[in-house]
Amino acid sequence: MPKVTTHPSVHRPTVGGEPPVTKIEPKRTGSAARKAPAEKAPAQPAVPHLRDFAESHTRSGLKPQQGALVEGKPGRGVLSRVDTLTFAKVPIDKNGRIAPVVFDLPKDAISFTVVVRGKENASWLIDRVKGPDGKAIVDGGKNMSTIVDHALDSPNRSAIGLCPGVAVLLAPDNPSIKVKPGQWQIGACSGDDQGKPATGTADVQILIKRATRQPKRGRIDLNFYLTGTHRWTAKNVAGNKDFRALLARTKALLKGAGIEVGAVRFADAPGATRTIDLDSHGKHSAGALFKTTDKPGLNVFFVDAVTLAGIGGRGPVGFGGGIPGAPVPGTPASGIALSIDGNPDLPGNWGTCLAHEIGHYLGLSHTVESDGSMQDQLPDTDPRPYAAGNLMYPVQEGSAVTFSRQQADVMLRHPMVDIIE
Ligand SMILES: [Zn+2]
Repeated sequence: MPKVTTHPSVHRPTVGGEPPVTKIEPKRTGSAARKAPAEKAPAQPAVPHLRDFAESHTRSGLKPQQGALVEGKPGRGVLSRVDTLTFAKVPIDKNGRIAPVVFDLPKDAISFTVVVRGKENASWLIDRVKGPDGKAIVDGGKNMSTIVDHALDSPNRSAIGLCPGVAVLLAPDNPSIKVKPGQWQIGACSGDDQGKPATGTADVQILIKRATRQPKRGRIDLNFYLTGTHRWTAKNVAGNKDFRALLARTKALLKGAGIEVGAVRFADAPGATRTIDLDSHGKHSAGALFKTTDKPGLNVFFVDAVTLAGIGGRGPVGFGGGIPGAPVPGTPASGIALSIDGNPDLPGNWGTCLAHEIGHYLGLSHTVESDGSMQDQLPDTDPRPYAAGNLMYPVQEGSAVTFSRQQADVMLRHPMVDIIE
């Protein structure tokens, strides 16, 4: 069975125009030596040099912002609700940092998700998340040359937005993090591919997921967008045997994590780009595609191929809006693109790839990167490169894979998953 690559790594992006880090491939022995993974990380967009980052957020001269609350209404049989706090037009200082955003987390919060949206010529990073006990669960530090790495290595991982114009963070994303009730503070910074900070304002949303019990089972709605690949249309796709094999595999894998698929919607996207090229600096067509979404639920675009034309190497099978993806529609991080006609694998394995991408979208990192450079923060996943069996390993063999219990727990906390038990 051919190995397929699911998506580019998110690790160790370069900042401030530094050349990409050359990766040293680990020596492989035994079964691991079979095939080199085709996965290759695209060069990541840069964030600005903040010469005087030694200033604290509160010393930037910008006042802490207060948000406007919209309470969520759970559907029938749903035990969770998602309240949304919106901070519109948050000012940005001369270094591209937003004014501090503060909010109160209620006692029954089981997670919160931060969405920062700003100018789309810049990339965004949520670089500071501080809890009511004064401890930071995300701290990018004061040095701009290491801020991306430090945010990534924080107790709660924060990854630079893969799609320019937006950054998303889910807390908790591992069992060591407790989201305590009380006042939290959020910071974010920005920069274009020349390291120039964004100007203007940013919009920040905090989605607070509330439930009276710890989640055991959940449900998620899926929206499928048909671009014409595999001759699928909104009308014919539900009855197509290849699509049915794909969806059956995705459903079975999610069910193993306690997540049911609820409503499934189809829409034609005839004008959509069918080849998503992930070139350097994050300037790619996926964000424009994902921005066209407007329905609640997780959006999946079936395309011909995801390519790395400007970077070289074989393209990944899928690409999602981020880790996690946006919990709301209409942003450059509001979807997943999955290669269909450009993926020579079996339709059932397309479903495995989709489940892997949904895992990322709902907050999961790779268990370990192919080169061993970074592991996830979950104690119950196997940290060895080339360990098989977990769905969030970067290279999938198609079957006999599962999510771990702790991976399931992270996914159940994403706002797109309704808690039903
Ligand atoms: Zn992946």
